[in-house]
Amino acid sequence: MYLKHLSYKQAADYFARRDIAVIPVGSIENHGPHLCLGTDIIIPEHIAEVLNRELDVLILPGLSYGVADHHHGFVGTLSIGYEGLKMLAGRITEQLYGYGIRRFVFLNGHGGNDQALMDVGLMLEAKGCITAIANWWQLAGQLNPDWAGGHGGGEETAAIMAIDPALVSMEHYLPLSPQPVSDELPVSGVRTVGFGGADFMVARRFKSVTPSGWYGPDDPREASVEWGEQMLGAVTRLIVDFVAALERAPLPEQTGRGNRC
Ligand SMILES: [Zn+2]
Repeated sequence: MYLKHLSYKQAADYFARRDIAVIPVGSIENHGPHLCLGTDIIIPEHIAEVLNRELDVLILPGLSYGVADHHHGFVGTLSIGYEGLKMLAGRITEQLYGYGIRRFVFLNGHGGNDQALMDVGLMLEAKGCITAIANWWQLAGQLNPDWAGGHGGGEETAAIMAIDPALVSMEHYLPLSPQPVSDELPVSGVRTVGFGGADFMVARRFKSVTPSGWYGPDDPREASVEWGEQMLGAVTRLIVDFVAALERAPLPEQTGRGNRC
């Protein structure tokens, strides 16, 4: 059930019966010229719809904004930064805690959000709560290595194609354009350069690494509705079963009050 659809009476009934809540979290950021800025929140909200149907679990309004400072330079990107997301997720979970929620699931669509969500979860653990972060794209790559992707590549493009093909504009596709730091320091990953057979992290904006705005082994041109449907179906099934297991799990012992988020 969606919190935004409940009256306070219905919400109180839920909090009296169950102690779990699901919060979709995403980002508004560049995903290349072929893919929509809201990719990272649209996919978790799609998965949340199935959780709602299958588990009748409480779904919070999605947090559309996340940590995307590294995508500045691409028009339309809107980041609230680490502090912003930690404050937002912290304040919301703190109030849910007050209503009796002890199990939190962040359905996350963006890797840049990980640290802020983990830090909120650690504070909740001190208060006797358990917090899980379900990163759908990592789960997809673990279920099937063919589904593993980068950023704005075939994996994310296929997922959005399956949800709403109108949000993909392949006519604007640009080829991958990795920019080495120097002849000796080629791009080896979205945050790394290769040197001496190893990867060194270099802090560069996404636009400096790949001006086309996407990165990965998975070319967006490989994406298809079939890929997206199969992948989202399998990942969503896994997350449904995981959330059910989390609801059965024992809660950690309370070790403190948890610092205010
Ligand atoms: Zn994304």
